[in-house]
Amino acid sequence: MLALLLASPAGARDERPPAPAVASEVAPALLAELTTRFGARPAGSPADRAAAAWLAGRLRAFGLSHVAIESFPILRWSPGDAAVDVIAPERRRLVATPLGGLVSGPTVTARVVAYDTYAAFLAAPADSVRGRIVAVLEALPGTADGAGYLRLVVMRSEGPAAAARKGAAGFVLRSLATHHERLASSGATKPLARPFPAFAISPPDAEELGRLATKGPVTLRLRPGAGWSGRAVTQNVVATLPGRDPTAPAVLVSAHLDSWEQGTGASDDGFGIAAVVAAVKALHDRPHRPLRSIRLVLFGAEEVTQPGSYPNFAGARRYIELHRRELAGIDLAAESDWGGGRIVGLRLPDLGDPGLDRRLAAGLASENVLVRTDRSASGPPDADVLKAAGVPLLRLDQDATLLFDTHHNARDTLDQVDMSALRQNVRVWTTVLRLLADRPLTPSPSPRPLRRAGP
Ligand SMILES: [Zn+2]
Repeated sequence: MLALLLASPAGARDERPPAPAVASEVAPALLAELTTRFGARPAGSPADRAAAAWLAGRLRAFGLSHVAIESFPILRWSPGDAAVDVIAPERRRLVATPLGGLVSGPTVTARVVAYDTYAAFLAAPADSVRGRIVAVLEALPGTADGAGYLRLVVMRSEGPAAAARKGAAGFVLRSLATHHERLASSGATKPLARPFPAFAISPPDAEELGRLATKGPVTLRLRPGAGWSGRAVTQNVVATLPGRDPTAPAVLVSAHLDSWEQGTGASDDGFGIAAVVAAVKALHDRPHRPLRSIRLVLFGAEEVTQPGSYPNFAGARRYIELHRRELAGIDLAAESDWGGGRIVGLRLPDLGDPGLDRRLAAGLASENVLVRTDRSASGPPDADVLKAAGVPLLRLDQDATLLFDTHHNARDTLDQVDMSALRQNVRVWTTVLRLLADRPLTPSPSPRPLRRAGP
């Protein structure tokens, strides 16, 4: 890169990085450029807008068709300078981050009532919680499939609302993380109709708070600052690799553009963007176009909740609104948004093509990917919105062993990304999209009815 820049004629400075000569380097180069140039990309921020414009430019330069930035309004949420301090038995600041989508309201100083598990908090009578700051200190178990997170994410999404209903003055939870460092993990929670302070604290701080609470009364002060910071515009970026048969049902592949304020959104979800964009580019660069079109969607506003009619996943919901008539012409959707691990499994809906699972298994034989049919395959969240609208989902499962070391925290940066895993993801997505897009057309008995997206 440096040598190429030095070799450019003086004054002929090109804003675009040189295209990597080797296909396997497309994704690492994209991810490095995205994270280094734009950093964190909170939905509706200037960095989010600039990254979308840059990515649209890259998709055009790669030769994709119908590249467009589809903007939509959102309310921006900001963590401000909200903070958590222990006031008694002695003063100290905890490493904490406010939960996304809540307005923290005025300063709250109150005694802590601590619970080892979320279930214990839910079972507690309102009398024991009223006027207190609830601390839920349950640790996230590390699992290769991320099942611990899927089970406990309710602590973050529903915990503040449950605490508010019991009359609590505030809510803190142990970050949904598998590391043991002083890093706090962001994440969205269900919007509440009134201000309510809620924070995630780092695992070491959660353990310290738990030890303090066993010795005697603990008082916390929750400093305000988090809340809506104004109207903004965010966007989906869409593109198409046209197939040979424009009437054939298309395949939709996606990732999401926005990130939390911490880190640079390298694994969540720069990794997914790099993987699917590089795979679609690899198919574009083949001598023959695929039989079916491939639609690429980079969703905006995946991470944030919104008050009002778009409670969450506003980008996916917006996509459905704008493209409702085309959805019936998409017979499969998939999204890459599960961190930076290698792909270990593929779950396939029943597409009425009995040989497809065998062709996929053969194509992926060298990548250690377990292929199976699973009609109930779901997620990631944007893809679930498409599924709720009636589009069948294919799921590529990634090894999530390390996902919750960097998820939504300040370590979600490029240096943490395993580039060999990214290259493996690109190879797998390329093979999967090729086999899906080239699969033979089977007569469809009747048009698939479309449903409205769920809440
Ligand atoms: Zn994500």
